[in-house]
Amino acid sequence: MEKDIFCRIIEGKAPGRIVYQDDEVVAFWDIHPKAPVHILIIPRKHITSVCELSEQDAPILGKMALVADKIAKQEGISETGFRLVLNCGPDSGMIVPHLHMHLLGGRRLGGLVA
Ligand code: 5GP
Repeated sequence: MEKDIFCRIIEGKAPGRIVYQDDEVVAFWDIHPKAPVHILIIPRKHITSVCELSEQDAPILGKMALVADKIAKQEGISETGFRLVLNCGPDSGMIVPHLHMHLLGGRRLGGLVA
């Protein structure tokens, strides 16, 4: 089965502006940023989305949130605020089938529902 684009970025087989990585999580700039700061935080392990998250893998979501907070500080948006988004399934508009958390900030964000 062909690997998704985020697995390919993790493996260095596709380009990505990586801002953080450790043994569990990788974070890189979104290719089409919707805000001055738009970074995606993903687990190295392939998990399709939060809809497919097992109890065993659930702690990775907490790790992703901690990494998002760390990056928000690095990018200078910790004080002004930011939004974390997890899409799941067709109605969310999810396009990449690899669990990812959007970190958005650097401008006043609009209402929650687009
Ligand atoms: P989703 O709608 O699935 O939650 O969001 C996927 C995000 O991945 C989108 O914001 C899209 O711009 C971003 N994206 C899609 N392909 C690539 C890529 O090849 N590289 C990077 N850095 N981001 C991508």
